[in-house]
Amino acid sequence: MSDSPVKDSADRPDIAPVGPKGPRAPVGPDPIPDVYFRKGFGLKAEVQEELASDYNGRLVDLLREREFTLTAGGVTVRLAREFGFCYGVERAVDYAYQTRRKFPDRRVFLAGEIIHNPHVNAKLREMGVEILIPAQIGGKIDYGVVRPDDVVILPAFGVTIEDFEKLREIGCVMVDTTCGSVLNVWKRVESYARDGYTALIHGKYYHEETRATASQTAKHGPGHYIVVRNMDEARAVCDFIEGKVSAEALMTQFGHTVSPGFDPDRDLKRIGVANQTTMLARESLAIGVEVGAAMIRAHGEEYANANFKTFDTICSATQERQDAVVELLTDPLDVMVVIGGFNSSNTLSLAALCSESVRTYHVEDAGAIDPVAGTIRHRPLGAKAEVDTPSWLPDEGPVRVGITAGASTPNNKIGDAVARIFATRRIGSQAIE
Ligand code: SF4
Repeated sequence: MSDSPVKDSADRPDIAPVGPKGPRAPVGPDPIPDVYFRKGFGLKAEVQEELASDYNGRLVDLLREREFTLTAGGVTVRLAREFGFCYGVERAVDYAYQTRRKFPDRRVFLAGEIIHNPHVNAKLREMGVEILIPAQIGGKIDYGVVRPDDVVILPAFGVTIEDFEKLREIGCVMVDTTCGSVLNVWKRVESYARDGYTALIHGKYYHEETRATASQTAKHGPGHYIVVRNMDEARAVCDFIEGKVSAEALMTQFGHTVSPGFDPDRDLKRIGVANQTTMLARESLAIGVEVGAAMIRAHGEEYANANFKTFDTICSATQERQDAVVELLTDPLDVMVVIGGFNSSNTLSLAALCSESVRTYHVEDAGAIDPVAGTIRHRPLGAKAEVDTPSWLPDEGPVRVGITAGASTPNNKIGDAVARIFATRRIGSQAIE
């Protein structure tokens, strides 16, 4: 990889592709000058050591060597076979470190959190990267502080078309770490809008990825979207499709999760289903089936065949982590610990899956496990605040603890959590290794 600007916008559906001979097709806005990078700066080797020291975990390596199981003093810890950093997050963090190296004298900003992990974001702040956070969840970022000679990193979730255009107008350097799997969803949603389908997106309407994905519907003019959080909300949309509730009632419930000017009578006649990449895969698939069935019941099979589409856009990393947890749960476990940011969608999906069959604690960081006090600070599913639970591990006797982590949790934090679980039963590192 060279250090020259990489003008590779070919795989971004929201901007014009730029090649050696200029734009290949007159799509979207004007081509971007040499300030847009999405393939790093050829500095991978230079930042490797720093990344390893910041995020690698010795205990996780040991778990891998020992078939993902460690046993000592009656405590067995079993790690899911797929866990933690995904390819998209690894790439985004790597590029952020490369960016800091490449531009040591420039101000470097992040358009929101690079990923939803407090430890990783704190590390980037320590490196002098300023994270621009919206004033409220789901709000817009204020780019007023950004100047043309600054550098702005776009996170793995991507940014909305509106944000991208704002940064382009400022003329700052943009380092785009949007994950390829997110770009695939954008292509799907963009094609729905182009063909006159409203995108029904299974996701969280305030999540950065879903906001960016929904914005793609406006790429070719006024396309439409509606975001549903779960099966209950999808069923409410189905009820409208089948004429069981009024447009007014639907808008009362979904007014804040639809595109501007959304008209249920007009915009729910042709529907394409997609999803945020990190949702519960099983639920996303079921929502596609449910909405398709409602379309058939309301309009007949022939109409539905011509006016309804559904594609599974869950990313492979999310799918693999959910599959690995399902496999882990086939073994008898006494308790499950899920590590990852409370605003991390894929971590929440893992916690939801685990809590269906075993006592589950979702912790934001390893530090939430206090071996001295014997407590665990966690956020119960659906709750807004954390709670401290004492005596979460029995004081003696055999106990089996399952563990997994969301795609934004680094291995050192997972290893730290494992050490703290053993330490809660007064088992030191020598006994484990
Ligand atoms: S969770 Fe999936 S979509 Fe998100 S960054 Fe990781 S690989 Fe990409």
